Amino acid sequence: MPAAIYLDHNATTPVLPSVADVVRDVMLSVHANPGSQHAAGRTARRRLNESRDEIMRILGGKMVGMDADRLILTSGGTESNNVALRYKGRRQNAEVRKPGGHVVISSIEHPSVTAVGQLLETEGVEVSWAPVGDDGIVDARALEKLLRIDTRLVSVMLANNETGVLQPVEEIVRICTAMGIPVHTDATQVVGKLPVDFRQLGVTMLTFTAHKVHGPVGIGGLLVRGDAAGGDAALPSLLAGQEGVDRPGTAAVALAAGMHAALQSWNDEQHERRVRMTELRQRLEAKLLAADPQAVIIGQDSPRLPHTTNIAFAGLDRQALVMALDRAGIACSTGSACASGSSEPSPVLLAMGLPEEIVAGSIRLSLGAGTTESEIDDAAGRIAEVCGRMRGG
Ligand code: PLP
Repeated sequence: MPAAIYLDHNATTPVLPSVADVVRDVMLSVHANPGSQHAAGRTARRRLNESRDEIMRILGGKMVGMDADRLILTSGGTESNNVALRYKGRRQNAEVRKPGGHVVISSIEHPSVTAVGQLLETEGVEVSWAPVGDDGIVDARALEKLLRIDTRLVSVMLANNETGVLQPVEEIVRICTAMGIPVHTDATQVVGKLPVDFRQLGVTMLTFTAHKVHGPVGIGGLLVRGDAAGGDAALPSLLAGQEGVDRPGTAAVALAAGMHAALQSWNDEQHERRVRMTELRQRLEAKLLAADPQAVIIGQDSPRLPHTTNIAFAGLDRQALVMALDRAGIACSTGSACASGSSEPSPVLLAMGLPEEIVAGSIRLSLGAGTTESEIDDAAGRIAEVCGRMRGG
């Protein structure tokens, strides 16, 4: 068996050794509950607050003043999305979950948004699903037409996890702000890959997670605007426990430190990582297109994340292909991690209106900060060989 090549970084990334060291050090040195009143508790609280402040700084949150932004630490992107979609704007009495209201969600969201949208529908909330073009980009003009006077929230991701296509969130914010409608964006795949400036982006809430950026699994965050765009927001916790706190339960001081360390490492190396991953992705795509005349890159001409490619080998079956590649030592996926292992075609690619044989034959290859050129060359050779064999060559 040849050495394994991991090209499934959009599912999760290997933790950086330096990040694991930070988590270990904090676990061993900070033992108290940050909610405790005693000196040890205060030490834990200080350590937690340091991590929170640095994360906010890296992501462009406003840290001081009456309108300072809020960072809710969660267990990851799924929880952040679930919390965001329960948004309650006090001033406008715009509680998303109140029956009779209206929200707009793009049709290419991660299941942790889509499933909440479907749940809201069962609770009597009207959900409009904003369409996407065959280029993988949510149609901002079509979305605008869906907005109503009673629209309580719009949720559009910053980049899609299956195609890597970047979404016109700034434009959508401009449209929604003019109507006083808050916007949530799921930036899970963007944070740690491209610069994200929360305030400049203008969204009311932004989701991110540590494990997509070589940080620990089990922690993420939701940034919430502290001014008029979100300052009146109440975000009901999913958990009952303590009153008056953003998220009941003992805060994970070591994981927060690990998330900060992972984001700091990206922040320090962001230019090199971005350039290297873009070049490697382009190299991989060029080799695969040259090897298989029926291969198609989905969203090829759209602005995309540096590290993600979704390539359709028309005429092949994606499940069989992913399994054959696994046997050849390549780890990749058929789409979002939650859907892998299932034989359902990707709802994202279906929403894009792509032909059946493209949807049926598409796989996602995603690179990480540690992916090397020799791995890419090796992977391209193995993928071409597996596809050739499956085509009967
Ligand atoms: N949102 C997007 C776009 C994702 O890709 C993922 C993970 O695949 C999530 C949310 C869920 O994040 P987590 O695994 O941290 O719950």
